[in-house]
Amino acid sequence: MSASENIHLFNTLTRQKERFRPIENGKVRMYTCGPTVYDYAHIGNFRSFVFEDILRRWLEYRGFQVTQVMNLTDVDDRTINASRREGVSLSEHTARYIKSFFEDLQALNIEKAEYYPRATENIPEMVALINKLIDRGYAYVSEEGSIYYDISKFDHYGQLSKIKVEELKAGARVKVDEYEKEEATDFALWKAWDESDGNVYWETGIGKGRPGWHIECSAMAMKYLGEQLDIHTGGVDNMFPHHENEIAQTEAVTGKKFVNYWLHCEHLLVDGKRMGKRFGNYYTFRDLVKLGHDPKAIRYLLISTHYRQQFNFTFEGLEAAKRATERLVNFTYRLMEADGMAHDEVNQLVVEARKKFSDAMDNDLDIGTALASLFDLIRDANNILDKNEISHEQAQRVYELIMQFDRVLGIIGEVKKPKELSKEAQELIQKREEARRKKDWNEADRIRKELREIGIIVEDTPDGVRWRIKES
Ligand SMILES: [Zn+2]
Repeated sequence: MSASENIHLFNTLTRQKERFRPIENGKVRMYTCGPTVYDYAHIGNFRSFVFEDILRRWLEYRGFQVTQVMNLTDVDDRTINASRREGVSLSEHTARYIKSFFEDLQALNIEKAEYYPRATENIPEMVALINKLIDRGYAYVSEEGSIYYDISKFDHYGQLSKIKVEELKAGARVKVDEYEKEEATDFALWKAWDESDGNVYWETGIGKGRPGWHIECSAMAMKYLGEQLDIHTGGVDNMFPHHENEIAQTEAVTGKKFVNYWLHCEHLLVDGKRMGKRFGNYYTFRDLVKLGHDPKAIRYLLISTHYRQQFNFTFEGLEAAKRATERLVNFTYRLMEADGMAHDEVNQLVVEARKKFSDAMDNDLDIGTALASLFDLIRDANNILDKNEISHEQAQRVYELIMQFDRVLGIIGEVKKPKELSKEAQELIQKREEARRKKDWNEADRIRKELREIGIIVEDTPDGVRWRIKES
């Protein structure tokens, strides 16, 4: 299958939706700013990672071969501060959070990137890049030995974030990795060792010290993807200074446009407010799982708002997401059991749903419209199923379509329904049926709980009792 030419993406660089055209036919080189592994990633971080997953899956669905790099920032201000606070070595500290990050990615059914380079394993590449910047006059060494990028030398500085360079204070410098637009000044490429770094430093040709955060991404993107990328993604808070600085660093060395399409995921709010530890509304993915929430429901919730809209996290929203995922899964079970009369309308439904879903996703990943087309299909097909007017073959076609959509959504996964229940489960279901006939709802409920404990979920529908195996 050849790759689609119909995908349109909103490019932050131009503030416009543009038709996606890759550098190399059928291939996508994509760089994703990964986590800073100083703590467990929170659900705002995962909103970005899940958005990037949907983007990747959609490109694949449309026939592209994606090479994605997601870096791990395992040395920067935050990781060093956190490891010193905990009194452990930097590598010991970050190893813990790298491990948990990969566990969380898997739980959220996020497809693996091709490369997960670590900053600490790419120091020579960063040093080489900094040397080139010095050679070309874009960087200079300060009195204490740190190396700064001179933003006045780069004509296009501010092109991504649209800040006005004329307003910048000449010669002012910022050494910390994160700062506000108003503080835009020369930034640190290399930080000469000082006491606050403890035993974190590298002895290199440019001195004893460590890299700044921004140079890490330029060096790793170029190492794995070359001088020019198709897509670079990140959270909206990465746009400045991080991505602005990445452009300045890379383009100053290559003289070529670094990234063709910049995509940024908006903020996540909690109960309408900015999420923050000090506001008491701060949740890691793990917090939610510990509270008993299903990772699939969390994933569904995170994907279901368009990535360029601010998204408000609430527990009611999470409950609704859970119901939506259950509806999806139950529908697939229903389809598996279908064996009625063929109905003309069904084929038409499949064609329409596929087109609506694809058109929506091609339009800058309009997930709201795509999901609506999916649930329209479920509603209409359920009406036909109620009348038993769908043949086994037709149901199979609907099922396959749902599974195609799920290659992008990643919610349903593999649906298995064993042919036979264990004897114990059969007896319990029978006992529960008797209890229901006698209108002994307490007993019926108690048995339902008992079944749940052995992994069987029963549902009372107008057509009788259904059961399925609980997914772990
Ligand atoms: Zn980055």
